[in-house]
Amino acid sequence: MKNNEQLSNENKHNQNVNSKIYDCAVFGGGVVGTAVLNKLTRLGKKAILLEIGEDVCTGMSKANSAIAHAGFDAQPETLKAKLNVKGKLILDTLCQELSVPYTQVGAVVAGNDMKKLEILKEQGIKNGVPDLEIIEGDRLHKLVPNLKREIKYALYAPTSCIVNVFMLTIALAEEAVINGADFRFSYDTKSIKFEDDIFTISDNNEKICAKHIINSTGWGYNNIAKLLGVEEYPLSYRRGEYYVLDREVGDYVGLTVFPLPTHLGKGILATPTTDGNVLFGPTSENCSSLDPIITPAGLKRIKDSICSMFIKPPFNKAIREYAGIRVGSGNDFIIEKSKINPKVINLCGINSPGLTAAPAIAEMVCDLLNFKGDEIEIIRRKPYGFIQDKNSKQLEEMIKENPKFGNILCKCEMVSEAEILNAIHSPLKPHTLDSIKRRVRPTAGHCQGGFCMLKVARLISNELNIPLQKVIKETSKSYIFDNDNESGTQSNKDLKQS
Ligand SMILES: Cc1cc2nc3c(=O)[nH]c(=O)nc-3n(C[C@H](O)[C@H](O)[C@H](O)COP(=O)(O)OP(=O)(O)OC[C@H]3O[C@@H](n4cnc5c(N)ncnc54)[C@H](O)[C@@H]3O)c2cc1C
Repeated sequence: MKNNEQLSNENKHNQNVNSKIYDCAVFGGGVVGTAVLNKLTRLGKKAILLEIGEDVCTGMSKANSAIAHAGFDAQPETLKAKLNVKGKLILDTLCQELSVPYTQVGAVVAGNDMKKLEILKEQGIKNGVPDLEIIEGDRLHKLVPNLKREIKYALYAPTSCIVNVFMLTIALAEEAVINGADFRFSYDTKSIKFEDDIFTISDNNEKICAKHIINSTGWGYNNIAKLLGVEEYPLSYRRGEYYVLDREVGDYVGLTVFPLPTHLGKGILATPTTDGNVLFGPTSENCSSLDPIITPAGLKRIKDSICSMFIKPPFNKAIREYAGIRVGSGNDFIIEKSKINPKVINLCGINSPGLTAAPAIAEMVCDLLNFKGDEIEIIRRKPYGFIQDKNSKQLEEMIKENPKFGNILCKCEMVSEAEILNAIHSPLKPHTLDSIKRRVRPTAGHCQGGFCMLKVARLISNELNIPLQKVIKETSKSYIFDNDNESGTQSNKDLKQS
């Protein structure tokens, strides 16, 4: 009889071995990892992305303020400052190339402490931020009509933008896949060996070989660093809670409004989103776990702060709260070639403004790896078509060609069956409810899925041949039905027939 060790060795021996040797394996499918993968693909490198979750954009990248910051906030000469300003410039064209919603709305830091505003302006100028100015009086209140009259001055940064960070991350990944990059989801790395200048990565099911590794795993940084035997760093967590307001509130704020910054960060802001909602938040609470909980104290802090700046903020139109965890290490980004193994690039502590800096971080990674040269010609991804963007004549023709465009499954966000099917069959083959929400928005509206979640689950189930009870919201086992409960299972059957 074989003992456990023999069985385990045999299992390892029986693993699928991917015969390719990739130039790079990128760990982590957040906005930074996908930006790196995209840049590698544009430089003609063979690359694979390994993500422990079920889709891209499930970590810090899904729960933030979605602002492409102008760059006045970061301390001059830091990586944060340099890569923020450079990343913002790249995003201006990248979002167009990728067909990602991106709008230059501008931002103000509003307050009455003129000295602090002047310091912030000088800092921005040092960082290379264009067109900064201090504004006051009618000009300020025309720009932000709902700002309280007693707030008299503001630093105005007209180049600040809002971006759809879900679509940015998805589009970076989709374009890479269309142009030859590979992906593995639910890839939980168990070992990494380095022999003859090649890494062999294994999750006990599949072995993947690569010449270089980029560790872009956010909260998971030290797990991968440990397996690689490279530098580990202490990580800190800071929670940021938010309110999301219904699209109904429309233009309550037309641009991003910050209070004066404190030692805890940029403060609780109000901003429109590219989807037409308004965000109030984030708080800034040191915490010891990655659990993105919402707390009564956090929500009160948001209310108090927003009410101190704005006239009648419409909190009664809140449709959702969420939280993101800022994972940091010290005060700046750590972006380096490992001193222990120079074939490894460490990306650690990429918190704010990491979304804005992502494309500049990707360029820096390629420079560190000495991957030079012009970008190759690439195939552009096809953006998802939204019926909301069509006029009635165009819509009529679409429905004539495919009647499923006329079957509206999500009434709050007006999403048709055809759009959801397109998302299910998109390049990354998403299979969770949240992954479909982030692509085409069913369950993102006023009812938060009360009416359409089951319909979307049923489409996922039918199209991907997953039992309805096994459809998940986001993480593995986040079933929307009670899988253990007999009567629950029964009612699921009824629902499937209904
Ligand atoms: C509250 C808040 C507000 C913010 N606001 C802004 C803003 O307005 N503008 C801005 O520029 N920045 C903002 N940021 C910062 C920005 O969100 C982050 O810098 C950025 O999302 C970091 O991206 P990432 O890819 O490094 O990390 P993540 O998005 O966290 O991605 C890391 C990925 O690695 C995966 N992973 C973990 N372990 C493993 C493993 N062992 N193997 C494989 N994969 C693994 C995770 O599942 C995850 O998908 C904000 C952050 C927070 C929290």
